[in-house]
Amino acid sequence: MSAPTILVVEDEAAVREMLRFTLRQKGLDVVEAEDAASAERHIRKRRPSLILLDWMLPGKSGVELARQLKRDPATRDIPILMLTARGQEDDKVLALESGADDYVTKPFSTRELQARIRAILRRVAPPDSDQEIEMDGLSLDPATHRVFAGGEKLELGPTEFRLLHYFMAHPERVYSRAQLLDRVWGTNVFIEERTVDVHIRRLRKALEPSGHDGLLQTVRGAGYRFSTKG
Ligand code: CA
Repeated sequence: MSAPTILVVEDEAAVREMLRFTLRQKGLDVVEAEDAASAERHIRKRRPSLILLDWMLPGKSGVELARQLKRDPATRDIPILMLTARGQEDDKVLALESGADDYVTKPFSTRELQARIRAILRRVAPPDSDQEIEMDGLSLDPATHRVFAGGEKLELGPTEFRLLHYFMAHPERVYSRAQLLDRVWGTNVFIEERTVDVHIRRLRKALEPSGHDGLLQTVRGAGYRFSTKG
């Protein structure tokens, strides 16, 4: 399976270079464009997995380009992560209304950016994908049912495996116990919600030796979240 391609649309060369470095480090392919026209040429030539789109561009703005791409059935499904230097609430709304799937406000941390890109790529990945998932030295291969943490193979029970697979496929989002029961155990089972806690504890224990247990976070009053953002 080839690496996802990220089209970076940003007019500032220094920012582009930083983004290229950050994304390649995470095993992503990077294609660069310095304005909307160049971005459109790239998209026609080869459809990217995701567009990292700067709001402020010379000529056609990022918001205008996002609107245009989302109107076109040929490009509508390409996820867009908007980069914006603005922090105003109105601008965030405008970014999302233009069709962007998410936005990151400059200055952003590279970890945050990587996590958001991963989250979007997971959301658009086909469900029940057999694609191997790798995050922070933790890798899970649905095809072979193997999990490696820091190079060591982990022995997980079937429920812990499914739970970890679900979390890694849907990072950065909080799931309640009821949602996890529904999505990991299936809708037709009658299991108490605290069963989830038991399996979470087992999964954390398995992840502990490699230090990956911290990725599985308890969100008080809400549920659990799998996050590499710390
Ligand atoms: Ca710019």
